[in-house]
Amino acid sequence: MNGLGVLIVYKTVIIGGGFAGCAAAITARKAGSEVILIEKTDLLLGLGNVGGIMRNNGRYTAAEENIAMGAGELFEMTDKCALHKNVDFPGHRHASFFDIIKLEPEVARFLKRMDIEVKMRTRIINVEMDGSRLDAIVAANGEWIRGDVFVEATGSAGPMGNCAEYGNGCSMCVLRCPAFGPRVSISQKAGIPDITGRRKNGQPGAFSGSGKIEIGSLSYELQRLLKEEGVAVVPLPKEKIVREKLEQKVCQQYALDEYAENIVLLDTGNAKIMSPYFPLEHLRTVPGFENARYADPYAGGKGNSIRYMSVAERDDSMKVCGIDNLFCGGEKAGLFVGHTEAVSTGSLAGHNAVRCAAGKEPLILPRETAIGDLIAYAGERLVTESGLRNRYTFAGDEFFARMKEKGLYSTDVSVIQERIDVLGLTGIYENAI
Ligand SMILES: Cc1cc2nc3c(=O)[nH]c(=O)nc-3n(C[C@H](O)[C@H](O)[C@H](O)COP(=O)(O)OP(=O)(O)OC[C@H]3O[C@@H](n4cnc5c(N)ncnc54)[C@H](O)[C@@H]3O)c2cc1C
Repeated sequence: MNGLGVLIVYKTVIIGGGFAGCAAAITARKAGSEVILIEKTDLLLGLGNVGGIMRNNGRYTAAEENIAMGAGELFEMTDKCALHKNVDFPGHRHASFFDIIKLEPEVARFLKRMDIEVKMRTRIINVEMDGSRLDAIVAANGEWIRGDVFVEATGSAGPMGNCAEYGNGCSMCVLRCPAFGPRVSISQKAGIPDITGRRKNGQPGAFSGSGKIEIGSLSYELQRLLKEEGVAVVPLPKEKIVREKLEQKVCQQYALDEYAENIVLLDTGNAKIMSPYFPLEHLRTVPGFENARYADPYAGGKGNSIRYMSVAERDDSMKVCGIDNLFCGGEKAGLFVGHTEAVSTGSLAGHNAVRCAAGKEPLILPRETAIGDLIAYAGERLVTESGLRNRYTFAGDEFFARMKEKGLYSTDVSVIQERIDVLGLTGIYENAI
């Protein structure tokens, strides 16, 4: 409402329909905006279609913080589609694994019910600026889409050229660049240079850290174990152990010795193999894997997607520095790994985009929350040389250690709700701006 009691409807345009873009769409809609969500492929959820692990380690805390603040929908859906709950696997506790086949259509139906306009198979390739404001975005089919505010959630994977130059070639991942066209950095098109993450050895980007094996291609015993327990840990013969692969991985939370010495499989509908790639001829020599075949990436025997090539400099409200009305979330907004991290940052970006359109002060999540601390900490680390070589996730490595040190990690839902309440954040995402 304006001062005269007239209802003003803002238009928020979100580019990229991964977990971050979907989360931004939901909070922007709840904040009272009209929302258009644009996705270049024929599937929402982006890399989420090949993920599945939720609520492991500090992600449990972050999920409950989001729920308490009123951004619970995507967690309710991943919980509803969970094949296994409260599972422990090497270095990780109380995880749940959603069914990667069931979640995407569930989310698509939910966005429709929220009256969010979703434009699939629409790839944004350019921008139209008006000074330091983004006026419109331009699709590959020539269509111009105008908005009051924009959220970029295009992720950091692809295009194919990056996978060829910094990886082992196009691994034929779920983003399917050859069919749907390459990712485009909207913030870079708007004149803000991308920041590139690095591996420990200084090389740009990093390999995605897992793949999917067709579950039916595994031995009956492995299939049974996965269905019953959710996890199978298969020791590797000494000569097949390649420790260097751990260094190349995006997911440093899984760069533990157990992941080099064993094949760790998780049941997410397919058998998730916790290794960036594994030559099929070697895999098939391991008992139980004689007929193994990759479901994702299709060339998982040779390589995996290269990520973290395109991060925008942003502030703690998720606004891209230098552009008045462009916000960002997910991997685009920092060297974040994970669905929970994408939902946490995307939800704030969508909410603050509408605040910006309404001329209101942005919401900055305090560092007494795990989410607020992750956003601020990852932003600070992004401008340091060592920070560019790390990734930021509630699930492990540097940031989970920090959560524990600062007393931010908890699995007690009432403690988390109380923390959010004391900070005056309960249901903050629920109400119209
Ligand atoms: C193999 C693999 C396994 C993983 N497993 C897990 C896991 O188990 N648990 C976990 O928490 N995390 C996991 N991750 C990491 C997690 O999936 C990501 O960090 C997170 O989902 C990123 O979400 P996002 O929305 O930022 O980006 P993305 O998922 O990359 O979404 C970006 C979207 O934007 C679209 N897009 C890009 N450019 C344009 C454009 N120009 N116009 C229109 N649309 C565009 C893309 O098609 C895509 O759908 C995994 C990642 C991979 C690759």
